[in-house]
Amino acid sequence: MSSPDPAGLRARAAQLDRDDPLADCRDRFLVDPDVVSYLDGNSLGRPLRVTAGAMTRFVEQDWGGRLIRGWDEQWVALPTELGDRLGALLLGAAAGQTIVGDSTSVLIYKLARAAVDAAPPERDEIVLSDDDFPTDRYLLEGVAAETGRTLRWIPTDRAGGVSPEQVAEVVGPRTALVVLSHVTYRSGFLADAAAITRLVHDAGAPVCWDLCHSVGSVPVELDAWGADLAVGCTYKYLGGGPGSPAFAYVAQRHHGVLRQPVQGWFGRSDPFAMAAGYEPAAGIRQFLSGTPPVLATVPLQVGLDLYAEVGIDAVRAKSEALTAFAVEIADALALEVASPRDPARRGGHVTLRHPDAKAVVAALWERGVIPDYRAPDGIRVGLAPLSTSFAEVAEGLLALG
Ligand SMILES: *Cc1c(COP(=O)(O)O)cnc(C)c1O
Repeated sequence: MSSPDPAGLRARAAQLDRDDPLADCRDRFLVDPDVVSYLDGNSLGRPLRVTAGAMTRFVEQDWGGRLIRGWDEQWVALPTELGDRLGALLLGAAAGQTIVGDSTSVLIYKLARAAVDAAPPERDEIVLSDDDFPTDRYLLEGVAAETGRTLRWIPTDRAGGVSPEQVAEVVGPRTALVVLSHVTYRSGFLADAAAITRLVHDAGAPVCWDLCHSVGSVPVELDAWGADLAVGCTYKYLGGGPGSPAFAYVAQRHHGVLRQPVQGWFGRSDPFAMAAGYEPAAGIRQFLSGTPPVLATVPLQVGLDLYAEVGIDAVRAKSEALTAFAVEIADALALEVASPRDPARRGGHVTLRHPDAKAVVAALWERGVIPDYRAPDGIRVGLAPLSTSFAEVAEGLLALG
């Protein structure tokens, strides 16, 4: 093992923190003094200090004060208004194409089922990565079984991700739908979404992007890519809190064409008419199902305020610096990096390989150093740019040495 020079790395971390234009943002988050290094902000972001007050205000004023009147006054419109805000701030999506509600899993099902149902029968393959996040794989297994389609798995490098060339090899006249993660949950590989979307379209099929690990850490340009569908969660980088609702994007051209399978009253035209028979609402509202999770969007709303202030480009710049620093320390400790080395192909987290990863992570958690364990031998280091300092990265990674 090479000698890591902890003092030198700590000094570099201190300098990087002094030079960091976003350094002050960290003070806006609740930082537990027992947590030496939080390296899982890509799985569950820290809460902002203002979140507790925002929740209390919501309970006392909006809910307690407005009661049932709140629905007409603001909550019925919330799924689309919040969707538009998220779309404008972080998704590169023009208004009217994004909703907030349900969970990512439920939205993957709704969108994938709608897209596959709309494909002609000879398009009998759903294309996906064999290393995508488990819920994506399971849901698509279910959609394939329900619709009589088969799954076309792209064999994926565990330390990398899916390239445009690999997609080009498998798409064609049999493709019904392609579902891929923009940033992969394991290695942090950042896919070339624009190129892949073009390739899938050339094959005559739509693509659904899973943005769970990219939203709030890397710029996303759904409209510019020409994306068809996208989903993502809000409890990772966006700090929506445990189980906060997900979002879905459906490009305007698919409204009124795709038909989603969970046809509840909130997706019906004029739900409060309580009329006989389902007919889809106009526009993106047809992808809603039931009563939206209003209460659960409060932390997300204050999280978006911070993104509005800072901007995604500054967040991405810090994210690149954080992951580069993590790779530098891993190299100094002679730990194998199982993530892309090219920052342009890397999202906001880095996975390191360790033969005793499970035991090492368990021991680190005892000491207030909190990375994630990824079976069989991965230690995943997630670096939420708004709430992670370089000093924290140095302390956390030196603890691995
Ligand atoms: C976190 C994550 C999910 C989570 O789905 P839930 O329905 O919120 O459990 C889905 N896909 C990817 C790629 C993820 O990283």
